[in-house]
Formats: sequence, C-alpha cells, structure tokens
Amino acid sequence: MEYTEIVKFHGHSCPGSAIGYRMTQAAMDALGLNGRAEDEEIVAITENDACGVDALQIMSGCTFGKGNLIFRDFGKPVFTLFSRKTGKGVRVRFIDTAIPQDALQDREKKLAFILAAPQSEIISIREVSVDMPKPAKIYNTAQCEQCHESVMETRIKPVSGKAFCIPCAMESCCGQADN
Ligand SMILES: [Zn+2]
Ligand SMILES: [Zn+2]
Repeated sequence: MEYTEIVKFHGHSCPGSAIGYRMTQAAMDALGLNGRAEDEEIVAITENDACGVDALQIMSGCTFGKGNLIFRDFGKPVFTLFSRKTGKGVRVRFIDTAIPQDALQDREKKLAFILAAPQSEIISIREVSVDMPKPAKIYNTAQCEQCHESVMETRIKPVSGKAFCIPCAMESCCGQADN
C-alpha cells in the first residue's frame, strides 16, 4: 500500500502517519503478510493512540470496529502484530532518536526522512510470543430499564434491583449503583 492511501484515510500527511506506515509495513513484512486482514486472522496491539494508528488500521485491517485492534495506553511508539494462522508475532518500535537534529523542528524534513530512511535505521523489530487475544465475542443486547435504550448485556449495571445502562446508573445518584 502506498503512503498516499494512508493520507486519504487519515485526512492529512504528517510525520505520525508516516511513522505508522513504516512500522506497519515492517511488521507485516516480518510476518510474511502481504494483504490486510479480512477477518480476525491478524491481531494488533497499539501502545499509543496517535496518527500512526490510522496507518495500522488501513494497512493491516486490524480495526477498532472488528475487535482485532487492542489499545494499551502506554504512550510508546510500539505496535505488536500477530498472525493467528502462523502463531507468529512481532513487536515493532519506532526509533525516534534516529531523526536527524535538523529535521526535528522541520515538519517537511521530518516527514521526508521518515518516508525515505532505511528500515533498520528507524525501526527495531523483535519476534514475540504472547498469549493470543481471544476472538471478539458477540454479546446479547439488553434494554436499560431507565432510558429504554439498547445496551450490550455486559455493560448493564444493577441499580436498586433494576438493570440500568452505565449513563443511567451514573445519573441515578453517585455511588448508588450496586457495583
Ligand atoms: Zn496526523
Ligand atoms: Zn439507560
């Protein structure tokens, strides 16, 4: 996939999306993947919620909506990708110290460097074996007894013997919810 495809999806060209592009490409190459996941055969863990995650989503097919993108809020430029088919996993990290001093304050220079730098200079890759996250579950839908809106059953909170959704449970007076 070309970087221009990432820009189309992400909305603008920026160093962050270019970093995500290089990281995802490195991870997919290391796993021997050449297309994105139609279903859940690839699982990704991202350790940040910055621009680069859009590259990860469109390139790998690991998306928030499909449940095969897991967010760990560690603030690190790190993605980990697994293939369910092969059981292989790789952790890729962007080496931000590789960016030349004169490119740090210059957005265009920084972007150009990130897109052109040899992979080994800017990405560290290692194989990992981690317990594979379980495939996304489909949960039943329940109805909140307060607002009568549909809500996933696992999100129901009991309030005075009634089944409430989270916003209603919070509104029904702080701390009154049974759990
Ligand atoms: Zn961006
Ligand atoms: Zn409700």
